[in-house]
Amino acid sequence: MPENSLFFTKTLLKWNRESNTRMMPWKAEKDPYKIWLSEIILQQTRVEQGMAYYQRFILKYPTIRALAMANDTDVFKLWEGLGYYARCRNMLFTARFLYNNKKAVFPSRYEDILALKGIGTYTAAAIASFAFNLAYPVIDGNVTRVISRFFGVGEYVDLAIGKNIINNLAHKTIDKKSPGKYNQAIMDFGATVCKPVGPLCNQCPLSGKCLALMDNRVAQLPRKRGKIRIRDRYFHFLVIIQKDQIFIRERIARDIWQHLHEFVLIENGKLLSAKSFFSKCSNSIPTGISYSDLIYSSGEYKQQLSHQCIHARFILVKPKKEVKLDGFLTIPIGSLHRYAFPRIITKWLAENPFYSLP
Ligand code: SF4
Repeated sequence: MPENSLFFTKTLLKWNRESNTRMMPWKAEKDPYKIWLSEIILQQTRVEQGMAYYQRFILKYPTIRALAMANDTDVFKLWEGLGYYARCRNMLFTARFLYNNKKAVFPSRYEDILALKGIGTYTAAAIASFAFNLAYPVIDGNVTRVISRFFGVGEYVDLAIGKNIINNLAHKTIDKKSPGKYNQAIMDFGATVCKPVGPLCNQCPLSGKCLALMDNRVAQLPRKRGKIRIRDRYFHFLVIIQKDQIFIRERIARDIWQHLHEFVLIENGKLLSAKSFFSKCSNSIPTGISYSDLIYSSGEYKQQLSHQCIHARFILVKPKKEVKLDGFLTIPIGSLHRYAFPRIITKWLAENPFYSLP
């Protein structure tokens, strides 16, 4: 990995020196105010659209002082068409804050930049590295894509674990002598070579050591989980006690609860009270059990899984008639602790004065 990191960094800097032709009006800019302006304008805006706005803003408000003294209406008029007006409001607030409290001088420490209103880690890293040559990596979609492909990061980059890996690699690979140039290089490389669709792998100077290319996973990386629709499910656990024995069974379905144990499970479209459960689920309730056997019914228990939220109620019965259930074990109540159960059942068992129930 260290050898690959070094190769990655050096190759990107070389590519930047020799082959990067991407032109931006703010490129090589050292004025933190102008860098900040360009970054704020470019958030949620295409580069082509943002460029004209940047040039108009710089022309009309060339300094922090000029922006701080501006009339709100004029600034919003100039912003018109960019949308997300909170960005414009924060920009004006910060310009006035710097003018009134910091003699219109932009802070030069990363932490102070990050503390300004409307500035997040990406923008702070861009200003710190471009204007002050501080080694803070910018991590946007382009950077994430290049790193995840070259280093073969298979974790979801929109979840904490994947984000951490990308973040660590970004810190490890940033060139400490020329962080600004390096940040610009990797962003431009992601935008023009290691593109989301149709990356130019056959012309890529990183191709010799790119793990995604070697493993034929270029199109699959970076992996994103995206927004997950959480499905609500409503479980009724019928806890049947007969002669101090309790019915349980091992789950054989190939799901996350496979090999764990459970009581009789009856699912319904919503969570029912014990009374409604006996009337609405009579076809699923084992023969010989009725509402008159009810001893206890729990409140709602919840367990959040990755794709679903389980809502459960535990309904405890002592049938007057003998019950026989295929596929179930009958075990002494006192030996329940020897079996593994899903967390929602363990929680109920732990919280409930189960052994003292009649
Ligand atoms: S070889 Fe292809 S996937 Fe790998 S870094 Fe280069 S452009 Fe990206």
